[in-house]
Formats: sequence, structure tokens, C-alpha cells
Amino acid sequence: MNCAALVCGDTTIAIDCGIGFTDEHGAELVHADFGWLLQQRPGLQAIVITHGHEDHIGALPYFLKELSVPVFAPPYAAALIEDRLREHRLTNIDLRVSPAGSQEQIGSISVERFAVHHSIADATGLILDTPVGTVVHTGDFKIESDPCEGQRFDRHRLEQLATDGVRLLLSDSTGANVEGRARIERDAEAALEDWISRSPNRVVVATFSSNAFRLRAVLRIARERGRRVCLLGMSVLKHTETARALGLIPSVDDLLVAPEEVDDLPRDRVLILAGGTQGEPASALTRLGRDEHARVHLEAGDTVIFSSRAIPGNERSVFDLVNRFERRGIEVVTRNRHPEIHASGHGSREEQRSMIQLLRPKAFVPVHGTHHHRSRHLELAAEEGITQTQLIENGNVLEVTKDALGVIDTVPTGRVYIDGMRPLSSEVIAERRAMGSAGLVTVVLSLKGGRPRELPHVLSRGVFNGADRLRVERKLGEHVRNRLKGRRFATTAEAEEAAIEAARWFLVHNHRRRPLITADVHGEP
Ligand SMILES: [Zn+2]
Ligand SMILES: [Zn+2]
Repeated sequence: MNCAALVCGDTTIAIDCGIGFTDEHGAELVHADFGWLLQQRPGLQAIVITHGHEDHIGALPYFLKELSVPVFAPPYAAALIEDRLREHRLTNIDLRVSPAGSQEQIGSISVERFAVHHSIADATGLILDTPVGTVVHTGDFKIESDPCEGQRFDRHRLEQLATDGVRLLLSDSTGANVEGRARIERDAEAALEDWISRSPNRVVVATFSSNAFRLRAVLRIARERGRRVCLLGMSVLKHTETARALGLIPSVDDLLVAPEEVDDLPRDRVLILAGGTQGEPASALTRLGRDEHARVHLEAGDTVIFSSRAIPGNERSVFDLVNRFERRGIEVVTRNRHPEIHASGHGSREEQRSMIQLLRPKAFVPVHGTHHHRSRHLELAAEEGITQTQLIENGNVLEVTKDALGVIDTVPTGRVYIDGMRPLSSEVIAERRAMGSAGLVTVVLSLKGGRPRELPHVLSRGVFNGADRLRVERKLGEHVRNRLKGRRFATTAEAEEAAIEAARWFLVHNHRRRPLITADVHGEP
């Protein structure tokens, strides 16, 4: 959920506007609380997107619903953003396509883009020209020693910058725990080719579909091996279409086969490209694992290749899925046993070092990664002789002057949880937390002339075990009746509050339970 702001004179630009995936509070997505950023209008003149990964673009619709500002994005990211805005029915957004090499003057900040290698097409870093000097933001990057077609890294431009002097480097810390250099994309493609050609029956390849280079490789290998390709899952279909429209992959119409036609082909003449490398419950790959796909079924002797990695936090659901295939005699190829099958989009320590050596910045601030990753990246900058460094946390205000660098303030930040395309209020989150950990109790009460009529009816869920439930519910009802006896309520709200209060006392004192308690009051006050 990356989002940074750069303030320079009367101009503010936001850099990236990302989302995270979560199952906390039963939500689906989480993004940064934009409260502070929204207060920056009218100074906030643009959102500048480095590349199209969800952790950099996913929160745009939620931000733009609050405040419409121009968005600058490289071509592949712009295509994805356009799609996302359409889903959210956001029209009239000023979305401008700016590829690597382009330059925009946004208020008092000049923003130039340079191409970097990453696991998505059109990934860029930013060269921000400010009165205190040049600030470079790498975006997410790696440095491929033998890039494949369409992958570009503007080394020459960075060398020029170093000659002119770089005031501050903000650099991607994701790979700070990995020694050496990251595996290159070409090697992952070679390994894929090897595994696909060795597979005797049906082959399923699961990969991050936003990586058009990998998609292109799988499609090429399938063609060369005489296999037709079945695209399974929304994200695979969408990304293949986007990559095709932007000319990143050649026409594949003659290669594709619909899911309902797969059974007509010999088992060794088909390759299935499926979405869902993280074991997401609704994904195509999970449905294949559960053998619940309506059209496509796998058998013993088929092969499933995970050309991906489990994102931290998803290991368990990925293993669940791997086990489902293996139990059925389906061969599974994963990065754990065969590390060559995937290449990360983020550079390892030596590439991070190369970036520092290339730019020789006066100051260094690690970004993108946990505190641990950023600290390790900072150590690396120190090894390279950079003395002006700073670790920053969410909400820190970092001031950069011609000579100095330091945290001068902190602004409020937080997390906004999204469920069903809408933010969850703190009230709903508190209710879900109470219900999830301690259950729900409802007191149903009827009033006549402001006085409780008969014994309140109590319903509970997730609080008491089977046989106890009815007994405790009745006792609770009696307690509420006794506590409310003789009182006359002017409003139903007042009666509700009293009923909840009485029920809470009973549950805490007699049972040490703190469920969510609601009251439903009928009749006239
Ligand atoms: Zn990325
Ligand atoms: Zn990222």
C-alpha cells in the first residue's frame, strides 16, 4: 500500500497510491488513510504512478472518489488504471500516459521518468528536479544482466545524473535480505521451457499475470511445443488482452482454445495458463485443485507449475493447494524445490548496491519493505560510504534541504479496510471484532406505555454451547426484566441502552463473556 507525498514550495505530488490484500476484519483490501493527503488540496497537483502493480495503483479509485486530481502513469499502468476506474464507475478522471523518458512540469516540481527492470512492463523510476537538488525515486526495480525484449534500464541517464549530482536517493528495499543478484527473467523462462517440454500430459502454468514478459514466454513455449493455450481466470484474460493491445505480446488468437474445447485435445497438446498463484479461494487454480472447475479437469500424471512465489502470509494457502494436487498424483513444480522456475521482480543486495554506486547520492532513504528490510538496505548504503541516511516510518515528515536531512514532524496515518469496494467504518470493524471473538447476543424487548411488557426474548450466537444456550438465554432475559422493572422509558433508544447495559452486566459478572450485544425494542414508549 505504497503512497508517499513530495511537497516543494506550493506544490504537492503523491507518488503511487497502492493497496494491500488482507483478511483482517473480514475485509478484502486495505489502503493508507488519505486524511492528511486530502487536506493538502489545492497544493496537491497530481498523483504520479511508478508502475502498474496493485501495491502502487490499487487505491487510486478510493482516493479519486474523494478528490479528483490528474494521474500520470506509464502506458501499462494507465491501461490497468483505466480498467479499474471503469469498474468503480469513475468517469472524467484526468489520466495521462507518461512513458519512460518523458518529463512533466507539475507546479514547481519537474518529474522525469527512467525505465527500470521489474516484473511488469513499463516500470519506471522518477527523477524529481527540485530547488534543493535532484531526488531519485527508484520505484520497484531489479537490474537484469541479459534483459529480454521490451525490458529496459536507463543506465546511461542515471550515470548522467550522477555526474550532475544527486541530492537524495529513495530506493526499493524489498530484496535487502537476499545476497547476490536476483535470478534473471531469461533464466526463469528457460526453466519453464524445460519443465513444459518434459511434461508428458496436461500442463498448467500459474504465474503473476501482470508479468507480460512471463506471459509472452509461456505463450511462445506453448506454440513451439505444439500446445494450444487455454486462459483460465479473469486476471489472466485481462492481462493477456492488455499486453496484446499494447503490443507486448504477439497475436495469439490462433493459439487459444476455450475451456469447453480442452477435452477435445490430446492431453499433451494443451497448456493451461491459470490465475491464482496465492491459493486465493475463488481463483481458477484453486478450482482446478479442488476439481471444481466446470470445464477443465486434471488427472494423475498432469503437471502444475507454479512460476511464482508465495507472498509472505500466503504460504499456508499455497501449500494447501499444492497438497490438493499432489494427493491426486499431479506433479507440482514449485520454487521451493526448483528455485529456477521463478525470477523475482526486485533486485537483491548487489543490485541495490549497483543502484547506489551508479547514482552516488549525497543522501539515502530506503523505501518499500518492512522496517527490517529498510534497515538492512541502510547498512548497505553505509558500506558504500553514504553518511547522510535516514530511516522513516509511516507518517514521518522528512525534510531535505541543500545540506541537511531529517525527520521534522509526524502526521496522522492509519489503515482503511475495504470490503465489497467500500471502506469499513471503525464502528463496523469494532462490531466484527467483538462478534468474531466473543459472539453476538440480542435482547428483544417490547414496551407498552414506556414500560417493559413481558419477559424479554434473548437470542445468542457463538457464545454458549448447545445445551447451555437456551438456559442462559432465559436467565439473561429474566435478569434484564428484573433490572428494568418499574422503569418508564421516554424513547426506545433509552430502553435499548438500558437493556444492553443490563445484559452486559449479567454476561460479564456471571459468565465472563463480552460478546457484541444489541437490543431490539418494539412498541410505544
Ligand atoms: Zn512492483
Ligand atoms: Zn511494489
